[in-house]
This record gives sequence, structure tokens and C-alpha cells, in this order.
Amino acid sequence: MSRTILFRSLHSEVDGAGRSGGLMRGVVLFVLWLVGTATAVAEPCAGNPDALGTSRVLTISPSDFRRIGSMQYTQTLPLNDHEVVITFDDGPIPPYSNVILDTLASQCVKATYFLVGEMARAYPSIVRRMFNEGHTLGTHSQNHPYAFQRLTMPRFEQQIDGGIASVDAALGDPKALSPFFRIPGLGRTSAIEEYLASKSLVTWSADVVADDWKHIGAKEIVKRAMRRLDEKGRGILLLHDIHPATVLALPTLLKELKERGYHVVQVVAAGERPKTLPELVASPDTNKESWPRVLQTKATHDTPAKTAVRHRGKKLITNKHRRPTVASLHETDQTTDASDWRQSQF
Ligand SMILES: [Zn+2]
Repeated sequence: MSRTILFRSLHSEVDGAGRSGGLMRGVVLFVLWLVGTATAVAEPCAGNPDALGTSRVLTISPSDFRRIGSMQYTQTLPLNDHEVVITFDDGPIPPYSNVILDTLASQCVKATYFLVGEMARAYPSIVRRMFNEGHTLGTHSQNHPYAFQRLTMPRFEQQIDGGIASVDAALGDPKALSPFFRIPGLGRTSAIEEYLASKSLVTWSADVVADDWKHIGAKEIVKRAMRRLDEKGRGILLLHDIHPATVLALPTLLKELKERGYHVVQVVAAGERPKTLPELVASPDTNKESWPRVLQTKATHDTPAKTAVRHRGKKLITNKHRRPTVASLHETDQTTDASDWRQSQF
């Protein structure tokens, strides 16, 4: 039995396309039942024949992939040599998420996003753009609490459920979200994993990190990502779309991947998802204040954007030259504020 099924489109991974939809769906479900995964081969990248592209779509059945990522688990994705799955955590936030999306689009690369609920509520149009450009969307808690592994059960349940509800609200269609979750800071416990499994969510760890939350430069991000990928030969790469250095690194990283013979794989969960979602249109300014306005100089509260900007100005994390371990990934600078999640962890 072949594990590979050819599709005409990246976005028709399980629902079949056009006239043969019903038959195709039956074949796909049968294959999923047999092997737990299916793959789709992508079309060439329109307008950019030299693009890195996305070589295939890997469809997984969540019940067969409860926990993935060799940094923490024995199971990971069934990738071939020189295949990479690109993932971004912690967004969305403008302008960084937008520029990352532009770069991915220019190379026809499809990624997986693990979105923070409060960020999704603040920037729903970016969430919809991510979906409409063909990326896979999962979640990463509501507020990205520090030391997720220390949360009490009611609190981590609220964080997981709240993050999903927020991203669902941003998307406007709960079917658009994939049942994929990455624990903030990879702060796993058995209780958290059991809860995620009880909700039929796939817990994503990673195979390779690039330390892009440590405020290293773009060149160093590329170097570390490529060195670690070369060591493993394949894997799930963890990046963040909220850091300027990651934005700067991505074009070079994609170029390096292409030059070194890597192929990008997109992962989707079995099940039907909408093809596209309506774009969000900005509402007109309904402020009835007379002109000229009195400018408010006193900040009333932090928006996610203000919070992220403030976080970026804080002190850096060191340990630049150590190989990453899960333990070292949780190390934080002692001077870092405990609530400062965008600075201190990933
Ligand atoms: Zn994170």
C-alpha cells in the first residue's frame, strides 16, 4: 500500500476537489485509517520557479500523533531525510507577522502557527490572512503564562480553552483551526498532556530550535537553525514571528534550506476545513469628538502591541553557545520580569 497520494492542490488535502470529491474523500479516509498519515504533493510556485516551495502536505490523524517532537517525546513526525516543518509561535503581531507572511508567500512556503489567544483577539485580520494564505493554525494558550508547568489544573485548562476560543473568534469559523497545541515554554506535565489528549489535541514540541527568543542576530539564527537541522537531517523547526531578528533571518534561512537541499513539509490534521474566510474590513472611525482632538498622554492600559514592544527593550538572555536542551530553554535571566513572556521564554 503506497503512503503517497497525489493531489492537485495544497488546499484540497482531505476533502477532494471538484467532480471526484466524494470518491477521493473515501480513498483518503481509507488510507488514513490504514497508515495514520497521508501526503499531498504541491504544485510549482506560481511566478517564482526558483522558490523553495512546499514539497508536500502531510495529513495526520490526531489520535495517532498525541505528542510529537524529539526534544521532549519519543514520537515525532514521519519526515524523510532533509524534510523540515516550519513553525512559528507567539504571534500574531504587526508588523513582524505581516513581513514573515510576505516572505513565506514569496517562496510559497506553508508554515504552522501556534497563536496566543490575546494576540489573536487583538489582530484578527492577521489571523485570517494566515489562514487564507494556506498556513496551518494551532494555539499556544490564551496569555502565554510564565512557567506553564506550574499552573494549577483549572488555570491551565482555562489557558488552553481560552486560547482556542480566542483564535476561533478571530477566525470566525471553528473549523478553520487545527487541533494542534504547543505548550508555552514547552512547560509540559503529564496532567497538561492528558488534558490536551482528552480534547483530541496534538501536543507539538519541536525537533530543532534556533534560539530566536534569545535576542541573537539574524545571522546567528540562520547559523544555529541550519547547524542543528544538519545534525538531525530533518525535523520540526521552532521559530517566533514576533521578533525583528527572526523577520530578518527568514529570507536567508529559506535560501539556505533551498541551497542545502531541504524540502518544506506542511502538516495538517485530518478533517475538513473551509477553503477561505472573509477578510475583516476596518470599521469607520465613529469618534464624534470635535476637532481638534485632545490628545491623551496618559496610557490607560497595555495593548498586546505595547506589551510586546516594551518586552523587546528588556535585558537579554545569555548562554549563546550551549546546545539547547529542554532544561536550558526554560532558563531565564534572573532580572527578567516573571510576566515578561515574550522576552524570557518561547
Ligand atoms: Zn511561546
